[in-house]
Amino acid sequence: MPALAPISSDETAWLFQAIFEQASVGICYSDFDGVFIHVNPRFCELTGYSSAELEGRSFAEITHPDDVTVDAQLGDQLIAGTRGPYTLEKRYIRKDGQVIWVRLTVALSRKPNGEPHHLIGMVEDINQMLLTEQALRASEARLREAQRTARIASYEIDHKDESRNWSDELFSILEVEASTAHPTFDLFEQRVHPQDRALIQKTNAEALANRTPYDLTHRLVMPDGRIKYVEVRGHTTFAEDGTALRSFGTVQDVTSRKQSEIALRQAKESAENANRAKMDFLANMSHELRTPLNAILGYAQLLETERAGPLEQKQREYLRDIMTGGRHLLELIQDILELAKIDAGRIGLKIEPIDALAVITDALPLIESMAAARAVTLHVGKPTIPLPQMLADRVRLRQIFLNLLSNAIKYNKLGGRIDVTCTEIRPGFLRLSVRDTGIGIRPERQSELFVPFSRLGAETLAIEGTGIGLSLTKKLTELMGGKIGFQSVPDEGSTFWIDLPIAGAVTPAPAAPDYPEAAPSLARVGREQRRILYVEDNPAHVRLMERALSQIPHVALTTVHTAELALVAMRAVAPDLILTDLGDPDPVRQDSQRRLIAVAEQRRIAVLDMAAAEADEGMGNGGDAIDMVRLLSEIERRIGTR
Ligand code: ADP
Repeated sequence: MPALAPISSDETAWLFQAIFEQASVGICYSDFDGVFIHVNPRFCELTGYSSAELEGRSFAEITHPDDVTVDAQLGDQLIAGTRGPYTLEKRYIRKDGQVIWVRLTVALSRKPNGEPHHLIGMVEDINQMLLTEQALRASEARLREAQRTARIASYEIDHKDESRNWSDELFSILEVEASTAHPTFDLFEQRVHPQDRALIQKTNAEALANRTPYDLTHRLVMPDGRIKYVEVRGHTTFAEDGTALRSFGTVQDVTSRKQSEIALRQAKESAENANRAKMDFLANMSHELRTPLNAILGYAQLLETERAGPLEQKQREYLRDIMTGGRHLLELIQDILELAKIDAGRIGLKIEPIDALAVITDALPLIESMAAARAVTLHVGKPTIPLPQMLADRVRLRQIFLNLLSNAIKYNKLGGRIDVTCTEIRPGFLRLSVRDTGIGIRPERQSELFVPFSRLGAETLAIEGTGIGLSLTKKLTELMGGKIGFQSVPDEGSTFWIDLPIAGAVTPAPAAPDYPEAAPSLARVGREQRRILYVEDNPAHVRLMERALSQIPHVALTTVHTAELALVAMRAVAPDLILTDLGDPDPVRQDSQRRLIAVAEQRRIAVLDMAAAEADEGMGNGGDAIDMVRLLSEIERRIGTR
């Protein structure tokens, strides 16, 4: 580089003048008392005063009062030669009153003989920079506060050297004093729960390999053994060649949320366990109670057929009482079990488009004798236009309808009337209503209507009932997406209705077959002897069946205690039909029953499930009591003697 040519003394004067006039920093000369001698245009611009206004005035007059002393002291030291040039950040008060921050550097100019001459000040405007800095600090403080409140920390990893930078909140989450530690991999790692380390490594490795964001929740262990849960979310940026550059993310302390989730899950699990235990108990109890009751009812029905000998009038009456009491008890057991099943969410529904009027018409014969006994007349309103189909479970809908209908009969006056209607009430819903002219329900007791076992005083009226019917009806209706409602006036009557969704189709659904589970074994029809294999461990039931089947000609009955024995007996007996009770709640016995059914299917041997037969309304009375007469005719149908 060529050496610069020396500046001539002529040049010095105008060169200095040019710099002084055009400098982008403010320049001022003052005497040792701080009185301005010369100020440049930029200085005037900064302070808002003209040079005429400033020259002859002291620096102190335009300096913020809090900054005067320090500036004066530093100036004195400079003049005294105890210090060199100095720089300080100070405030001026502009002519318009506005306070501005400047960075002032003061030096001493000397005469050629070395004597101090003037003070030279250089002034930079740092107002904007300070304001920006202040705003930045305020925003950082707000961010820190937000992170503290939300317990969310932020971090950044530089993959070049694996160095880290993270917010103070991460130190708080890790419970490490921020002023004594640096963000490092080890600092975080030492707090990670040992069992979660592999998961973190795997998640990070996958995210890096697939270049996807990551999100995982893991545990931290505090020095005192406390467990914290953190949710870590982040993403990584990559260079063009695929190397990872930086990762950014957040770490949120989600301990309290996680703890409530865990508590909730535990509460749910223990509720489910309790419910399962209750259900198992109910299922077992119901099985144990129904078995002897069915035997009682079966014998009563056999006696009633008078095949075993003629009965006297009194005996017939006693029999009827036994049967009424028995059926009532069975209904009660069945209802309680149903209620428990619904509560446990263990009820299976087959929702399909259904012709509601067909359900009404099919159900009416089942209740006619009950209505006749109280001289109640039943009227079904015929709709003027074809009704759309209802979305419901056919069997449950019939159960609901029969419940409402039997209440309308029971709580009606002798010789009363019942009106059944089915109408489209609001878009998308069909209403099935049952109106009676009965005793009605007093307003003050209406709130108890759907409470299980609550009979609203009917227990004193000698009307049979359990107080479960309406609660079951309501739960079933709601399970099918419907609603139940009522209106009642004491001594005038009540109307109960259910609203169920419309399917949108007008054609009726095909009716379900009575026994879809097994086809009769037609291969042996016409043979002389029919062989039945009966799997039953209850001696009373076995005797009942033996006697019942003795009434069918050409039937040989073989009885075994268990399904395992049945598998053996099947080979020896080659039965036409297997009778068994698949409703056994014992899982081991259920298992062998399943095997039995599989083998029977292979050999095309019909299986009649007594539990299904009992539960099917086509076979039973009111859905549970076994009907010996119908059971016998079903057996005959299956073995081909009818
Ligand atoms: P249950 O009829 O077995 O007692 P429900 O649950 O079916 O049980 O009905 C509960 C109570 O509601 C009945 O005991 C009766 O007091 C009242 N109730 C139900 N239906 C009617 C009705 N149609 N008219 C008057 N009262 C009724």
